[in-house]
Amino acid sequence: MQTPYVGRFAPSPSGPLHFGSLVAALGSYLRARSQGGKWLVRIEDIDPPRETADAANKILHTLTAYGLEWDEEILYQSHRVDAYQDKINQLLTQDKAYYCQCSRKQIQAMGGSYDGRCGRLKTPPRKGAIRIRNSIAIDHFQDQHMGKISTDTTFAGEDFIIKRSDGLYAYQLAVVMDDAYQGITEVVRGCDLLNPTCRQASLFNLFEYPTPLWLHLPLVCHAPGMKLSKQNHAQALDTRQPQSSLNAALAFLGQPMIQKHTDIRIMLAQAVIQFDLKAIPKHAEIILSN
Ligand code: GLU
Repeated sequence: MQTPYVGRFAPSPSGPLHFGSLVAALGSYLRARSQGGKWLVRIEDIDPPRETADAANKILHTLTAYGLEWDEEILYQSHRVDAYQDKINQLLTQDKAYYCQCSRKQIQAMGGSYDGRCGRLKTPPRKGAIRIRNSIAIDHFQDQHMGKISTDTTFAGEDFIIKRSDGLYAYQLAVVMDDAYQGITEVVRGCDLLNPTCRQASLFNLFEYPTPLWLHLPLVCHAPGMKLSKQNHAQALDTRQPQSSLNAALAFLGQPMIQKHTDIRIMLAQAVIQFDLKAIPKHAEIILSN
C-alpha cells in the first residue's frame, strides 16, 4: 500500500506573509490536496533574534483568510528544543558530531569551506558550534519538478553546523528532525532552499530517517537573484480581499485563474481540482513585473 501523502508549509515568523510566501503556501497546499493528502503547518520559531512579535499569529490569521486550512495541530519548533538537544547529545556521545571553535576568518582562509580540522583533534574543544561528521555527503537529488539537482561537492561534503555557537539550533537539524517527526512524505517549498536540500538529504541518511521527496517551486523575485522577502519590505498580504492575490499566485504557478467568489474556500477547492504540476514554470526564479 502506498504511504498517504503528507505535505507541509513551514514559515519562519520573521514577519507577515507576503506574495512570495503565499506562492509557497499555496503550491504546497494544492499539491497535498490534489493528492488527497494532509497539509500541515509548522512554525519555525527557533531563531528569536530574527523573529517579530506576534508574527506567528499573523501568519496563521493570513493562512485562514486565504482559506488555507491545515490538518492536525500546529507544530512550533520552539517546543521541540529538548528533542533537538537529545539528538545532539547522542551524536556527540557517538562521535558523529563534534565541537568547533573556528572563526569565520579561519574558514575563509580554508577556502570558504570548513575542512573538518576540529573533528581530527585528539582533544577536541568542548564548546563552540557543533558540526555533524558528514560521512555521507550527498551531492545531488531528484527534484519532483526541477529534475536532477547537483551541488558543489566541497559544499556537499562539508561537516556543517547543526548547533550554533550562540546556542541556537541550526535550521538544517530542526527541519530534518521535524519533517521526519511529522511524517512528511514530500517537501514543497521555494527554490531558495534547493542548495541546502543536499545537506538535508545527508542528515536523513545519517539519522536513518525515511527520506521525503522534494519539490521546489519558482521563487518570487523583485530583481535577478533578489527574492521577495520580509527583509526587503515585501508588502504584507491583504487579508480582507484575498481573491486577487490568490489569483495572482495561481497565475504565478502557471495555473488557471478562478472566477472570483466571496467564499475563498470555494475558489481554492476549484484550484485543487484544476491543479496541474506540469504547468508550473521550471525556472528557479521569476521576476515580478509591477
Ligand atoms: N522556515 C523556512 C522559511 O521560512 C522554510 C523551511 C522549509 O520549507 O524547509 O524560509
